[in-house]
Amino acid sequence: MAPRTMVAGNWKMNLGPAEAADFARDLTLPPSIRSEVALFPPALSLAALREELGEGPEVALGVQNVHWETSGAYTGELSVAMAAEAGATFVLVGHSERRHIFGEDDDDASRKVEAVLRGGLTPVLCVGETLEERKRGELSGVILRQLEAVLASGEVEDRITTEARLVVAYEPVWAIGTGETATPADASEAHRILRERLVSRLGDTVGQGVPILYGGSVKPDNAGDLLSAPDVNGVLVGGASLDPTSFARIVAQGG
Ligand code: PEP
Repeated sequence: MAPRTMVAGNWKMNLGPAEAADFARDLTLPPSIRSEVALFPPALSLAALREELGEGPEVALGVQNVHWETSGAYTGELSVAMAAEAGATFVLVGHSERRHIFGEDDDDASRKVEAVLRGGLTPVLCVGETLEERKRGELSGVILRQLEAVLASGEVEDRITTEARLVVAYEPVWAIGTGETATPADASEAHRILRERLVSRLGDTVGQGVPILYGGSVKPDNAGDLLSAPDVNGVLVGGASLDPTSFARIVAQGG
């Protein structure tokens, strides 16, 4: 069965607690949305955002990163349990900025997905090729390597198969924060490659149920075409999620 559409906003290192509360006050979502809506604020803004949004299920919250250990001497890091206690139900893992600016690799992503699933939250695994990789014809090799690195863990495979908690976000690195958007056909091609692998690894029911989001310069003006492209189950929005009006316009196009 096709997964429910998801519209998620990644605020990156933007909007502190007071600005997050302002965002929540100004956010007017369309009535009776069927999509799952999620926001990934900086962790320090999560409590203010949750409080101002209220406890309703309309907007789920997530954190942009976690450490795989449960506690200890890891200065600057957050555990899954802390994220959950603060109100997160989702965790971004392997975002391209984590991979390319902070040097995270596939092993880190694998350990993080394991920890997130063990802690009862849902990982949003980000995969995507650089422009050079795309030009060398490596799209499928790169995104499948990033996906397989995570599915290779027996624990991850078991938990996803039994608990059905995984979201994948295809985010071509060349389209993130650049204004350069993949065409709906580009997104569909990558999503189909990912879907085939999810089904072959996890079986039809679970594999078809994993939402695959597209991310990379999604704006109110291009969201509709991307959201209606074959095999695209939602969008992960960076810059355009910082403004409540533009985020709500994108959510409205998710149905
Ligand atoms: C992102 O951060 O995941 C993203 C897709 O950013 P932007 O929409 O700004 O390209």
